[in-house]
Amino acid sequence: MIGRFAPSPTGPLHLGNLRTALISWLHARSVAGEWLVRVDDLDRVTSSIEHETDQLAALASLGMTSDGPVVRQSDRFEMYHDAIHTLRRRGHVYECFCSRREIREAAAAPHGDLPDGAYPGTCRDLTAAQLAAHDAAGRRPALRLRTEGERIRFDDLFAGPYEGGVDDVVLRRNDGVPAYNLATVVDDAAQGITHVVRGDDLLAGTPRQRLLQQLLGLPEPRYAHVPLVLAPDGARLAKRHGAVTLADLAARGVTAAQVLSRLAASIALCAPGDAVTIDELVPRFHLDAVPHAPWQLAAADL
Ligand code: GLU
Repeated sequence: MIGRFAPSPTGPLHLGNLRTALISWLHARSVAGEWLVRVDDLDRVTSSIEHETDQLAALASLGMTSDGPVVRQSDRFEMYHDAIHTLRRRGHVYECFCSRREIREAAAAPHGDLPDGAYPGTCRDLTAAQLAAHDAAGRRPALRLRTEGERIRFDDLFAGPYEGGVDDVVLRRNDGVPAYNLATVVDDAAQGITHVVRGDDLLAGTPRQRLLQQLLGLPEPRYAHVPLVLAPDGARLAKRHGAVTLADLAARGVTAAQVLSRLAASIALCAPGDAVTIDELVPRFHLDAVPHAPWQLAAADL
């Protein structure tokens, strides 16, 4: 069994990210598996090496380090381009010239149970003349997956049976950068990932990844989508909500060991305030015992 945690290095990890990392780490360790960290730094504008270093240090201070080399997606574009090429050869790719605004406006119409922002397929059947006109105007296309109304079903190890549709997801952005779903399935396969434990904000998009795995002939890992951590106002926890990173908490005198205890208590592995080490948590951990309700922080926690 090989699990993984794949943060985007766009800022410091907060309690929500750290809790997901801890669940993923404990899940791997509890079955004597390996755990890998991958840096999802496809977007060079929002990602930085400083954030990457800070995130790895935060994980390490709680006792979580990658069992293999930490892999960066920005080093692996060639693999992603090869996968896109394979899909293209098989007729699963088309060029899309829509601007973000055009997509936003078109996607406002309902599209069954597709994920939010699902692409309505505007550019699926452009004529040769239309393609030539875009080309002549100097517009660079994104590449999209040509789906055929597939419905994907899988058993999530935590959320249970899930079924959803797949839209014509972007494979390569119009600036040439490979897109998240494509890169993720290529990497999960290349790294031999058997179990993906991640936040349940990614559940509705998972059928896209399952379909890409099927079309590329890649093994399909098992998924466990676990609840997010919420701020007192019910929104998904973010840095703006207060003292939510290890650095913020350290400035208030809260140690990494105390943060670990707090995270462990939130998944019912110890009583609030108990001193615990991460290794002590391993035999206590069961994915089934993780609470299904999101962990909602109180104003006093922040
Ligand atoms: N990098 C993604 C994020 O931070 C997670 C990707 C994944 O786990 O598949 O939201």
